[in-house]
Amino acid sequence: MKTGVIGLGAMGSGMALNLHKAGHLQGVWNRTRGKAQEIAEQTGTVLFQSPAELASGCELILLCVSRDADVLEMVEQVAPTATAGTIVVDTSTVSNATAQRAAGILAEKNVAFLDCPVSGGVEGARKGTLAMMVGGDAEVLAKAEDTLRAIAATVTLIGSTGSGQACKAVNQIMCAGVNQAVTEALAFGEAMGLDMNKVVDVVAKGAAGNWFLDHRGKTMLVDDNDTGFKLNLHHKDLTICKDMIRDLDKFTLPLVDTTLKQYEELMEQGYGDEDISALYRLKRP
Ligand code: NAP
Repeated sequence: MKTGVIGLGAMGSGMALNLHKAGHLQGVWNRTRGKAQEIAEQTGTVLFQSPAELASGCELILLCVSRDADVLEMVEQVAPTATAGTIVVDTSTVSNATAQRAAGILAEKNVAFLDCPVSGGVEGARKGTLAMMVGGDAEVLAKAEDTLRAIAATVTLIGSTGSGQACKAVNQIMCAGVNQAVTEALAFGEAMGLDMNKVVDVVAKGAAGNWFLDHRGKTMLVDDNDTGFKLNLHHKDLTICKDMIRDLDKFTLPLVDTTLKQYEELMEQGYGDEDISALYRLKRP
């Protein structure tokens, strides 16, 4: 499908390049124009002047912006010019309520919406190997799936609109736990005076091995937290998880509460734009 990408940050730029390789990319738009210009030049695709112009020239509109308000702002801007039958795919991580609001705004124009948050990090976006969790209509997904396969190795329909985001919330809580486990365990190893490169290599091969240890274990040891998933975005996601359980009686998320407090401490110290492995700064001996 002729696809336009809105939001060319750490994730969106990789997705746009993979859509181009698969022959689907029609053009791009980004709030900071330079990033869009670079990708449009690199791919020879259209540099759209506005989200509205992009919407009028594409059959599939892929969003990858930061927060709930940003998604709704983009949806408001594409809705008037998108033609009936267009599909808006939101890969940002936002609340299930935002997905439902976005779908409602677009439905008035007969434009379809799928909430399609992804997991797999910046590396997964670059390689086109993301895991995508979809909320929405199966028939709409069937039309978009071939295009979405250019960016995701796994595309799983979870259920109705918003359920993709609810599944992503499960993923984000688990990521907080993995971050807590890896940073605390490596801090313990460092306190024991171990050769930490050897520790990461061998532990990664056993039962405690995991994606985060493989991709961030060695970099966090040397305070290299530049690339990856911004801590302030994970803070946003965990806040969404807390909002989602507000009406559930006696259901708590102690791991999320602890992680939110520690992230806030790091954000106050100016580390909000670092990868979430910056949590190691609080744990190291
Ligand atoms: P990022 O590098 O900070 O990029 C954010 C993008 O959103 C930029 O293109 C930014 O434009 C755009 N944006 C923000 N507010 C906007 C607004 N009001 N109007 C228009 N554009 C706006 O973030 P990212 O890591 O790519 O993450 C994007 C989304 O994917 C987030 O929801 C995040 O939670 C989710 N996610 C991230 C990862 C990861 O590992 N990084 C993994 C899975 C999911 P500018 O260039 O102008 O700032």
